[in-house]
Amino acid sequence: MAAKYNNNNLVQLRDLSDKFEKSTPQEILSWAIVNYPTITMATAFGAEGCAILSMLSELPGGKDVRIFNLDTGYQFPETIEMRDRIAERYGIDVEFVRPEETVEQMQARFGGPIYGTNPDECCRLRKIEPLKRALSGHEAWITGIRRDQTPDRAVAEPIEWDSRFGLIKVNPLAHWTRAEVRAYIGINDVIYNPLHDRGYPSIGCWPCTHQVAETDDERAGRWLSFAKVECGLHVKP
Ligand code: SF4
Repeated sequence: MAAKYNNNNLVQLRDLSDKFEKSTPQEILSWAIVNYPTITMATAFGAEGCAILSMLSELPGGKDVRIFNLDTGYQFPETIEMRDRIAERYGIDVEFVRPEETVEQMQARFGGPIYGTNPDECCRLRKIEPLKRALSGHEAWITGIRRDQTPDRAVAEPIEWDSRFGLIKVNPLAHWTRAEVRAYIGINDVIYNPLHDRGYPSIGCWPCTHQVAETDDERAGRWLSFAKVECGLHVKP
C-alpha cells in the first residue's frame, strides 16, 4: 500500500496526481479504493456520477464504497427515482443524506423558500452542511466533476487535497470532456436521468435548474437569475 497523502505532503500528492493525468478513471478509482478503505462518494445522479457508479460496480471493492446523495428536498422526482434504478442495475445502495430541517421547517422559519432570494444560504443549509456531516470520518471522497464544467472546476486534479472539507478528493473524470462521458455512457449502456434527454444537461434542484438549448453551456440552466454557477461543494477556499 502506498503512503497516505494529506495536507502534509502536498508536493508528493501533486506528483502522484500528475502521473494520473494519463490514467483511465477506473485506474484512478482502483488506486483510491485500495489506499483509502473509508473512501466515500457523493452523487447527484448526473451523467458523470452514473458513469462512475457503473465503473465502481465492476471494480474490486467498488460496491463496498459508501455512496450518498444530498437529498435537499428540492430534487426532481426523476432524480429521486435514480436511487432504485441504480440499486437494481448495479447492486449499489445509495444513501440519502438530508438537511437537519425539512423543506417545510426551513420555509416556515424563513417565511417561505429562499432559493429565489438567497440561494447561497439555501445551498449552505441544504447541501454544504449535510455534506460536511456526510464526509466526517472519511479519509477521501469521490466526485464526478470535470475541468470543463466551471472556472472553479478548471483546476481540479485527478487526486487532490480538499482543504475546504479536510480530506483527499478524487476526481476520476477531471480530465474527461462531456463528449467522453457521453461516449462512455453510450458504449456501456449506462443508465442515466431521463431529464438529460429533455434539455437538462446539468441537473440540480428543480427550483434552480432550467432547460437549455443543445448549443448552450451545459450549466447555463442553473441559477438562471444569478451569477452563481456552483452550489459551493467544489469551490476552493
Ligand atoms: S440548488 Fe437551489 S433549491 Fe437547491 S439547495 Fe441550492 S438554492 Fe436551494
